[in-house]
Amino acid sequence: MKAVAVFPAGRAIRLVDHPEPSIAAPTDVKLRILEVGVCGTDKEIAAFEYGVPPDGSDYLVIGHEALAEVVEVGRAVSRVRVGDLVVPRVRYPCRVPDCMACRAEAQDFCYTGEYVERGIKGAHGFMTEHVVADERLLVRVPRSLRKLGVLVEPLTIAEKALIQLWDIQRRLPWVCRREGAVHEHRHARASEAPKGNCHTALVLGAGPVGLLGAMALINQGFHTYIYSRTPPGAMNATVAKAIGAELIPAEAVDVATMAAQVGPIDVVYEAVGASQLAFDVIRHIGTNAVFIFTGVPGRKAPIEVDTDLIMRNLVLRNQVLFGTVNAGAQAFAAAVRDLGRFAKRWPEALGAMISGRFDPVECAPLLQGRAGGIKNVISFA
Ligand code: BGC
Repeated sequence: MKAVAVFPAGRAIRLVDHPEPSIAAPTDVKLRILEVGVCGTDKEIAAFEYGVPPDGSDYLVIGHEALAEVVEVGRAVSRVRVGDLVVPRVRYPCRVPDCMACRAEAQDFCYTGEYVERGIKGAHGFMTEHVVADERLLVRVPRSLRKLGVLVEPLTIAEKALIQLWDIQRRLPWVCRREGAVHEHRHARASEAPKGNCHTALVLGAGPVGLLGAMALINQGFHTYIYSRTPPGAMNATVAKAIGAELIPAEAVDVATMAAQVGPIDVVYEAVGASQLAFDVIRHIGTNAVFIFTGVPGRKAPIEVDTDLIMRNLVLRNQVLFGTVNAGAQAFAAAVRDLGRFAKRWPEALGAMISGRFDPVECAPLLQGRAGGIKNVISFA
């Protein structure tokens, strides 16, 4: 069967004829891949900066943002049926017996780093015609999301971040400053924002992770700004406007001016992986604010940071900075639920997130060139 393969040693990317997998364990499920999104991680793998083939293979089948259909189930499978639409999860637990996270099926918090990620590290991914996965690593998606389900995995990044945000902010009565209202959010349930939320969120970056993060924040009632280099005419800017985010152009407005314009910043959702920008913005976050890092910067030269100012603010203003990667079952469930909500609330904007659907033969320019658009998708169906 066709598969998009990266050969790290030979520095090549090409379509290969890859053996079709079959069900080996009673809880295995065989999937027909419908669509796979291309993301920044894939581009890094395609630039040979990252990406580890499985043991014994000289290539890695890439792709980790997939939507698929169940075509066959092992005899003990009970969670999915033939014909179901599913999103396969990316990360598999490590095998270290005392990794508490992996043993508790929370491999997104793996302690050892020995986890496997399909299409990224140690296991073939989803840019191919068929894959086999354990039923526990599949997330069912309603048929109504056939055209958009490929966005579930990138949305899980924001969902995991928001679950953690609400957990953290349970530490205080998170008071509403806007509209003069006072709401106590002490009993907020993780991942489900209480009504009347009126905090201010700032998203850094208007790529797919940034825009999906902005949708998730707006959906939870945050007054949301996006600070980005996006040119005003780009589709990203159209989507930002359509969902009700205020886009502040980073070429025209410096960080200090942006911060003055936004006012007290309660949450920053960083989605560019640019450390200089992130640490410039940290100087301006508000009291009890939370700064969430999701981007992975390349290693560049060290930069100058005013650490005394940042540390003073962290302490005197109870600020929290945290990084987040991958996602667990709860975040996947939230992503499926919220994608359905976004599809009702902003059908056109959400549809516009998928800028193009391409045949697998077109994979190399999509992965290696600077293909435009927001989310490009390779279609196998
Ligand atoms: C994927 C995550 C993965 C991370 C690091 C991201 O692009 O969405 O699932 O954990 O890369 O490899």
